[in-house]
Amino acid sequence: MRLQRTVEGELNRLFVFELSDGLRVEGVLYRGDTLCVSTQVGCPVRCVFCASGRYGFIRNLKAEEIYGQLELVRSFHGIRRIAVAGIGEPLANWRNVKVAFERFRREGLRVSFYTCGFPLSNLPQLLRMPHNGVTLSLHTTDPATRAELMPGAGDLPQLLQFLRKLLPTLSRRKRKKISLALVLLKGVNDSAGDLLRFAELAQSLGVGITLLRYNEVGVFESPDEEEFEKAFLLLRRQGIRVTLSTRFRRERIGGCGTLTVGGRLPRGG
Ligand code: SF4
Repeated sequence: MRLQRTVEGELNRLFVFELSDGLRVEGVLYRGDTLCVSTQVGCPVRCVFCASGRYGFIRNLKAEEIYGQLELVRSFHGIRRIAVAGIGEPLANWRNVKVAFERFRREGLRVSFYTCGFPLSNLPQLLRMPHNGVTLSLHTTDPATRAELMPGAGDLPQLLQFLRKLLPTLSRRKRKKISLALVLLKGVNDSAGDLLRFAELAQSLGVGITLLRYNEVGVFESPDEEEFEKAFLLLRRQGIRVTLSTRFRRERIGGCGTLTVGGRLPRGG
């Protein structure tokens, strides 16, 4: 595995890692001290608003390839946090992600995750481990819309039922580190009704919301600045803890949903 090249954005630095079989994944340095790492080559969830799932799933990264992204970058950057939020679904490569997580933690790094929550069997372990934040990618309360947006994300009612049982078993402190992600897509999930249902769900689960801006990599449109602010205020007025996506996550280089795989893709990939 080697660092093939770096691409400078206005705020972020994108790293292209070449794996020993010629495949590539990407990682991003953002906020100056946070490395977003990939966990799979391609992604089985295939979200239609994300470039990472475009080739479908190719293979899992080994634990040393997940950890290796840090090793290659930190020779020239001080890294304090890891975001397991690059290409791939961490729960779908859980054994290797867990080994990498333990190595990150042993080195005193703060580690946060983005996940669609599937496979459910691995979710309790993730939520109970000493993480520094888990964001569950929900994006809607409507099962049919979610199945269209995230075809490989599993069944939404099943996930919610699971969370309703699991979350009350966690401490309040742990629950405060969990949030539901909502990427606003114009005309899809941004009506007042959509937002109120989402707020109600977060409230009933006792977790916050992470409101994300869409980096236009697919067929959707992002609401404009004013509409986004209005959505934020509407959610806040329901008494919900709302975290906004930062400028770093919105950048064209290395922003959420923009990472891609490349290199020698397998036939049909
Ligand atoms: S948003 Fe995450 S889960 Fe969805 S395709 Fe992209 S990398 Fe996979």
